[in-house]
Amino acid sequence: MAERSDTGTAPLVKIIGRRASAPCYAIRDFLYRSGVPFEWVELTSDEQARALAGVEHLHDARLPVCVFPDGTRMDCPTIRQITEKLGWFRNPSRSEYDLAIYGGGPAGLSAAVYGASEGLKTVLIERYAVGGQAGSTSKIENYLGFPAGISGAELAERAREQASRFGTEILLAREGVRAECSPGQVAGYLADGTKIVARATICATGVTYRRLGLPNEERFLGAGVYYGAGASEAALTKGEHVYIVGGGNSAGQAAMHFAPVAKQVTMVVREDSLKSTVSQYLIDRIYATSNVEVLTRTEVIGLDGDEILQEITLVDRTTGQARTARTHWLFICIGGVPQTQWASEVGMALDQGGYLVTGPDLLRDGRRPVGWPLDREPYYLETNMPGMFAAGDVRHGSVKRCASAVGEGAMAVTFVHRYLADG
Ligand SMILES: Cc1cc2nc3c(=O)[nH]c(=O)nc-3n(C[C@H](O)[C@H](O)[C@H](O)COP(=O)(O)OP(=O)(O)OC[C@H]3O[C@@H](n4cnc5c(N)ncnc54)[C@H](O)[C@@H]3O)c2cc1C
Repeated sequence: MAERSDTGTAPLVKIIGRRASAPCYAIRDFLYRSGVPFEWVELTSDEQARALAGVEHLHDARLPVCVFPDGTRMDCPTIRQITEKLGWFRNPSRSEYDLAIYGGGPAGLSAAVYGASEGLKTVLIERYAVGGQAGSTSKIENYLGFPAGISGAELAERAREQASRFGTEILLAREGVRAECSPGQVAGYLADGTKIVARATICATGVTYRRLGLPNEERFLGAGVYYGAGASEAALTKGEHVYIVGGGNSAGQAAMHFAPVAKQVTMVVREDSLKSTVSQYLIDRIYATSNVEVLTRTEVIGLDGDEILQEITLVDRTTGQARTARTHWLFICIGGVPQTQWASEVGMALDQGGYLVTGPDLLRDGRRPVGWPLDREPYYLETNMPGMFAAGDVRHGSVKRCASAVGEGAMAVTFVHRYLADG
């Protein structure tokens, strides 16, 4: 079976592999989020593996094979190797920046656009693909200025282009893992050992999907179990029964994304109803779509299969009755965990959930945070480390919407200017 990503342009990468494969999924997902047109060729037999991919059999470790228009062939490439091949991989060009932004979701991209356009030497570090959670969304319908909605991948690509045009250096497939703060400077260390020095830093690392915590969950990752709305996978669910865990906005959007393709979509919701935070337009659509059902007070408690997910176990929380359901498609959209593992090591203030605390939330009975060295209070989006700011979903008390993440990214840059002017 061959599928094309729906960008409408000639594929830049042909991916040849088998469906139940985490590396295949990771590459499809990365290219989809990055707006790179690709062709997916699904192998179903050893003969096809030999004929189409030139490997021994369907479980050959060289799969997936990626083929580029210039004829280059890469066997089971990493995301970094793909970014290198696409010409997107780069090293920092400066020994010091005015502003380093960690995270290339809506908040980080917005900070990059404002920072670079306002003359700051700006670098943005993103560990995966630009767009963050928004990049995994098939359609954002409530973002100002796009009355017909816009796909997260397209929004991210436009923002990436805009940030680059203003001169932001974007380092993709690079992860910030450690920081050292000294007066007037933050040194960030990336997983590959690269050091980024900047006068001010914005942490816009957002949240990552929460796991169900079930046995076999890791094993089926990319082979039946997926986190988020799985925008890259929709075309592959044709005629299948898709299960989505979660009762929030992202789960609802995922349901509407799969409904036109899948035979049946079932939302599995722990609570009595969809979350009160779900937009009303989405609730109306979910209940008006005949092949979408909402199972409330229900939980997924088991995952079974062979090399691919075959069956899930559902329990009714009212009666305690369990039953199994056959499926190869389980999408988990149950909220996020903030990406701040590194922050406590440098002494940044986190709330109980691990979110970065900023500005007025740092004050206790009107007193500045312990160790705060300056003769002013922390700026609104400033953490307890002067010159380190937080924007978007990673911030304590943030609104968890694209527009607010974008707003906070822009606002953080204003405070960066004030901080730099303070000298
Ligand atoms: C499926 C889904 C649908 C949604 N639909 C809507 C919608 O319709 N409307 C709406 O307003 N909102 C929607 N949201 C919410 C919205 O996407 C988020 O509020 C928004 O993306 C938050 O932006 P952010 O930049 O703060 O964080 P994120 O989008 O989480 O981006 C953070 C980025 O930081 C990167 N990162 C993390 N750690 C590191 C590190 N150490 N080093 C470098 N990079 C790092 C991540 O890879 C990621 O790209 C949806 C969310 C989901 C999951």
